[in-house]
Amino acid sequence: MTLTRRAFLRTVGSGAGGPAPAVITARGREALVGELGVLTSAIVPPADADEIRISSNENPMGPGPTAIQAIREHFDDSNRYPMNARITDTDAQDRIAKMYQARVENVVIAPGSSEILRNAVRAFTGPDRPLVSAECSYENPVRTAEFFGTPVKQVPNAPDLGIDLEKLAGAALGAGLVFFCNPNNPTGTVHVREDVEEFVRFVAKESPYTYILIDEAYHDYVTNPRYQTSAELALKYRNVFIGRTFSKAYGMAGLRLGYAVGGAEAMAKLRAYKLTFGTNVLGLAAACASLDDPAYIEKEVARNTEARQYTLDFFAKHGFSATDSQTNFIFVEINRPAKEFREACAKFNVQVGRDFPPYEKTHARISIGTLDEMKQATEIFAQVLGISTTDAGSDRS
Ligand code: PLP
Repeated sequence: MTLTRRAFLRTVGSGAGGPAPAVITARGREALVGELGVLTSAIVPPADADEIRISSNENPMGPGPTAIQAIREHFDDSNRYPMNARITDTDAQDRIAKMYQARVENVVIAPGSSEILRNAVRAFTGPDRPLVSAECSYENPVRTAEFFGTPVKQVPNAPDLGIDLEKLAGAALGAGLVFFCNPNNPTGTVHVREDVEEFVRFVAKESPYTYILIDEAYHDYVTNPRYQTSAELALKYRNVFIGRTFSKAYGMAGLRLGYAVGGAEAMAKLRAYKLTFGTNVLGLAAACASLDDPAYIEKEVARNTEARQYTLDFFAKHGFSATDSQTNFIFVEINRPAKEFREACAKFNVQVGRDFPPYEKTHARISIGTLDEMKQATEIFAQVLGISTTDAGSDRS
């Protein structure tokens, strides 16, 4: 009889006999078999046991049924380049443009929004035009700038660990590109519409040659009613554009599709760096189909909100504070190095996020899996953080 991952974790949680998973990870399965003789699946996870992977802000549910149906329907078209297939790059661009009541010139699609971020740095920064970003934000633009030898200005985060817009605005003067992640990864915090508009207006007036990339990768997960997409601002101000992805709420990280929306001139500059044939037919088909299925996103957001709240309640109940997450991950003050926490969790097959300087000595980023996964993961967190299991158990309904 094989033991499922969940059953295995339950076994661990209930204190059943046998070596702790920490031991299994440290010594390896084969070594243990050698030491202890024949092991039953009751004490060793099966070789194919998967993990609770809450490290990369992925949607644990995957693409919705409409997207999966579209993939099936386009599978036999996979021999075609995206410009020759039944669904093309232009179709997707068109579909996205319609959604924003914009024109195709206002949209650039890419194999994931990572390419948008990277190409934005290439298109809009240079030796005399630095990149500006918050100190604790998504690292891709800063890494890209460093790779190309472009100067970078990073501003400290605000006391709530969110992006300090005043500091960002100050640093923006004379910059080539400002990277403004809203909601911010890894802190999960958002800025509301009025604040974003004030920031944009200031930069556009005081530094008209500075471009602003507002990364909305986690847009769909926001529950703060005062938040709004900056798409409208992107179509109004020539130096502003947004980045979006199908990798998060749409559950398509492995299908690779993202896009930017902004003024035609900025989008033409960005498009010049576009990878030829970077997109794929299945990703295009799934993305277009999923835009016609808003009910899936609604369901996914409700699911994430419930699991996020469960996890936040667990930490709050045990005295650990977290930022105000508006995303599918949380940023928790665990009062110990993230590495130590991460490695301890990994020994129980729970994978949490990487280090996020300058908070890597105190905070961990934990992505939100299914509610069931979060119930199991919090049991492991309780063990790792030294919270009594009885307390942790009473958390669950
Ligand atoms: N932007 C942010 C804020 C992210 O967190 C990520 C991925 O985690 C990306 C962009 C890139 O996503 P993708 O390339 O899958 O669209």
